[in-house]
Amino acid sequence: MSGAMTLDGLRAAFEAGEIDTVLVAAPDMQGRLMGKRFHAAHFLDSGWRETHCCNYLLATDMEMYTVPGYRSTSWEAGYGDYTMVPDLATLRRVPWLPGTALVLCDLQDHHTHADVPISPRAILKRQVARARALGYVPMAATELEFFVFDNSYEDLRDRGVNDLRPVSGYNEDYHIFQTTKEEPLMRALRNGLFGAGVPVENTKGEAEAGQEEINIRYADMLETADFHVITKQATKEIAHSLGKSVTFMAKYDHTRAGSSSHVHQSLWTLDGAPAFLEPGAEYGMSPLMRQFMAGQLAHAREITAFLAPYVNSYKRFCVGMFAPTKAVWSLDNRTAGFRVCGEGSKALRVECRIGGADLNPYLACAALLAAGLAGIEQGLELEPEMRGDMYGAAGAREIPRTLREAADLLEGSAMLRAALGDDVVDHYTRAARWEVEEHDRVVTDWERARLFERG
Ligand code: ADP
Repeated sequence: MSGAMTLDGLRAAFEAGEIDTVLVAAPDMQGRLMGKRFHAAHFLDSGWRETHCCNYLLATDMEMYTVPGYRSTSWEAGYGDYTMVPDLATLRRVPWLPGTALVLCDLQDHHTHADVPISPRAILKRQVARARALGYVPMAATELEFFVFDNSYEDLRDRGVNDLRPVSGYNEDYHIFQTTKEEPLMRALRNGLFGAGVPVENTKGEAEAGQEEINIRYADMLETADFHVITKQATKEIAHSLGKSVTFMAKYDHTRAGSSSHVHQSLWTLDGAPAFLEPGAEYGMSPLMRQFMAGQLAHAREITAFLAPYVNSYKRFCVGMFAPTKAVWSLDNRTAGFRVCGEGSKALRVECRIGGADLNPYLACAALLAAGLAGIEQGLELEPEMRGDMYGAAGAREIPRTLREAADLLEGSAMLRAALGDDVVDHYTRAARWEVEEHDRVVTDWERARLFERG
């Protein structure tokens, strides 16, 4: 069953008593779904045209704090409204919630009805349009890793998030037996997403106790980002319904592996031919693919704040745990930041391995695409491939070590300012700096445990 619905299909499902609730939501700066629950009757009557939300939704942090220093909105500006405009192409069933459908929205200026430039969905749409204007359709898949715990979120709220019991007791990479034990959650997730029209390929155990991966079939970049946020939402909601919890933190425990969101990317011609493929060339890589990758490598450090948006994200970049530390490229080598996969075939693609599971897929895809397009527009030449274990490669381009460094690189990026606009770069630089300021200010458990008695 395809989960995609037309408005008429929704009306029929409502009249048949199958759907009574429509979630009307827009992705926020953190890539979360924010919005309202509509009675289906009201959505069908008028809600499908537009609704409204406070414009602080693109100016708060993870804890909904009203962060100072944004130009888009503030207490002085009175925190007015944005218009939420449902993108009816995203209307779908939500099989894991009773009687429910979902539609994703674009955020528009309340007065001019123009897209809000700092809105993650608008940022990505603009880069996809740039690629199309050059004659290419950008396709991507964002693999998602996450941890599953036997604790419920409510239990963790009462007892604190330190006493965690991972769903498995050992590294479950590719394990069938351990993942059989997890099927009440993972089977419901695969089938729920399939029923929502999200093309799930598979799930698997990952390389740490309690860690999972889910793969969704590659699609047009905007659709892929939509699939990503719906998949995260589904994972949390289904886990919650089973009394379990999941986390998409990039690094929930420094003694364990982190969770990634690798981004597989390829460009296709407008009539559907794989533009990265040139039979006979090295690895089958066309000059276009080489330029695209050259752009991503040249600008990798500037776009890292969009791939690793929190202080915690940088704790994932450590040696020997499959997360990269160097922004270099290599064929099928998991120690490189950029890995060429699908050598010589239609599946030829570049996988950016820098991003953590905490990335906002709209921003990550937009930044990667902007960097790749810059490489094409400037005809950049691809640097030589690196081979072997990249962790120890002296002199190789380093991924920024901290969010502080990444924020400075983002702010100074002429490429991103030209591609995304100054307002976008300034807004997200402020978001990154706020995370750093908060982290600098807060006293942590670690400091108390280390210093209280012995210091
Ligand atoms: P891995 O071994 O890296 O996990 P997979 O075979 O699971 O590789 O594929 C990873 C992802 O790459 C899948 O989500 C798949 O849909 C996607 N993918 C396959 N071909 C392409 C392509 N040409 N462009 C972008 N993504 C692709």
